[in-house]
Amino acid sequence: MPPDTTCGPVSSLDDFRQLCNSRFPPTLPVVELSAYPTAPLGAAPPVADITFCPRCATRLTERQHGGALRLACPACAFIHFDDPKVAVAVVTGRDGRVLLARRNHDPGMGLWTFPSGFVDRGEALEAAAQRETREEVGVEVSIDRLLAVRSGPGHPVILGAFAGSILRGEPSPGDEATDVGFFAPQHLPELAFPHDRDLIDAWLAGPGAPPAILTAAPPQFPAQ
Ligand SMILES: [Zn+2]
Repeated sequence: MPPDTTCGPVSSLDDFRQLCNSRFPPTLPVVELSAYPTAPLGAAPPVADITFCPRCATRLTERQHGGALRLACPACAFIHFDDPKVAVAVVTGRDGRVLLARRNHDPGMGLWTFPSGFVDRGEALEAAAQRETREEVGVEVSIDRLLAVRSGPGHPVILGAFAGSILRGEPSPGDEATDVGFFAPQHLPELAFPHDRDLIDAWLAGPGAPPAILTAAPPQFPAQ
């Protein structure tokens, strides 16, 4: 029988915490916070920057669980799994020219890249790719094939990049871009991300080419 993971209804946070504590007494050893490995300088932090249990608001500590040190709640059964984010991008174009949008936000503000964004939970990758293209450059696309997947040690994002064909609409910048345009591959503007050129090359290689497997470098974060 699966464990009861409900904690409500209750009328106050203290009641809520008390109820959770009574239902989920800590049974796993708690280790000191300092046991976490230190992140390499400039790399992604090894754990999410959360402090309190999202279920019962107790301060999280650390436990060995499933072969890794994880943030966990000493008062209830909650364990935080620092899952990756999943993102998609679409390389599309017209007459051999690639459609790019100029970003109005960091990272890469002022530089050019493809329509891209995070996948919602429960959303198919292809549907997310179509949605992001609609939102960011204002065109409807079909998703034709997978161009590349990109992930890397210490990198929090897994990217799937697709080739798309424009079905209808004229490109126009959405909320996250200042401009959009078609560019010949030999006359590209400054691109925002390290693998953007690889994705264009995969697109130009045509349907017969297998998807590329790209390794992302750990992202750089400002010094804390
Ligand atoms: Zn909790």
